[in-house]
Amino acid sequence: MNSIYNYTLKDLQDYFLSIGETKFRAGQVYDWLYVKKVKSFDEMTNIKKDLIRYLKDNFYLNTLKLIKKQSDVDVNKYLFELSDNNKIEAVLMKHDYGNSLCVSTEVGCNMGCRFCESGRLKRVRKLFSYELVEQLLQVEEDINERVSHVVLMGIGEPFDNYSNVMNFINIINEPKGINIGIRHITVSTCGIVPKIKEFTKEKTGVNLAISLHAPTDEIRDKIMPINKAYKIDEIISCVKEYIKETNRRVTFEYILLDKVNDSKECALQLCKLLKDINCYVNLIPYNETSHIEFKASKKVTINEFYDILKKNNINVTIRREFGSKVSAACGQLRSEQR
Ligand code: SAH
Repeated sequence: MNSIYNYTLKDLQDYFLSIGETKFRAGQVYDWLYVKKVKSFDEMTNIKKDLIRYLKDNFYLNTLKLIKKQSDVDVNKYLFELSDNNKIEAVLMKHDYGNSLCVSTEVGCNMGCRFCESGRLKRVRKLFSYELVEQLLQVEEDINERVSHVVLMGIGEPFDNYSNVMNFINIINEPKGINIGIRHITVSTCGIVPKIKEFTKEKTGVNLAISLHAPTDEIRDKIMPINKAYKIDEIISCVKEYIKETNRRVTFEYILLDKVNDSKECALQLCKLLKDINCYVNLIPYNETSHIEFKASKKVTINEFYDILKKNNINVTIRREFGSKVSAACGQLRSEQR
């Protein structure tokens, strides 16, 4: 058995051809799944009975169970149970430009960033593409509105689950299906250099965000173990290559942690590091977690940091805070139910 939500339209067409069906039939089924959004094969009324029977015997549909929803201003957090009882979370943010969904890519995470809640649980497994697709379908059903933007910034490291993540992106980007514009999809990585290189070659048009969080290896080593494997200069050089190849701007995420990476010197070092790179910096006010050794930077410090970047002609924004009351903010998601 497999999930039918693992298939791109092209894959489903090829599959249908392989079982002696037509491409046209695959298109009809795809339309039922993603445009009419039915929840069972029986509702596909223009598909003949024996094919319905075949599909039922060979594919499953919904596997995610919504077990909890919490809401705050403009944000919903969803806790889902997977068919093997593991749990993940997804967060919906209502922006003036549309509904943006933050999806999880793994159960737990192996990256071990010291400040992040999600990594408290080591990776149990990668999510399959269909489990990413189902997060989106279930949230759309819940809000009864379209999701227009997807960010791969929930639990997990997307580039540690590369092929399932890329397949998911292809599925949601399909114009005859969910049809999320490629520029409305953002993948965020802690900096797995070989995967950034692979991603560059694919020239998908998906937005790339890098969780940098420090201007020097000395600081980054202390807060992000991945830095032991890939140093900042390696990240910067492959980001430059990415920009050259794709002509796309890159986002650098930078959490401001009190007395760790928020000094004026850090701001100046960051300016130097990013000088002449087509990027923008997203300063993230730290959301407190059970890692009590980290505190959020003070408002004035955040503003000073911002001003230094601005003065040095770095494009910079301070990320709007969402959902900290329901622990739905960046770095607060986890795979264990509280
Ligand atoms: N593994 C990927 C995506 C998930 S994290 C990555 O590292 O990019 C999404 C973003 O939230 C990352 O930039 C991450 O560093 C940041 N983040 C983690 N914990 C946070 C916290 N407590 N407060 C604010 N941002 C946090």
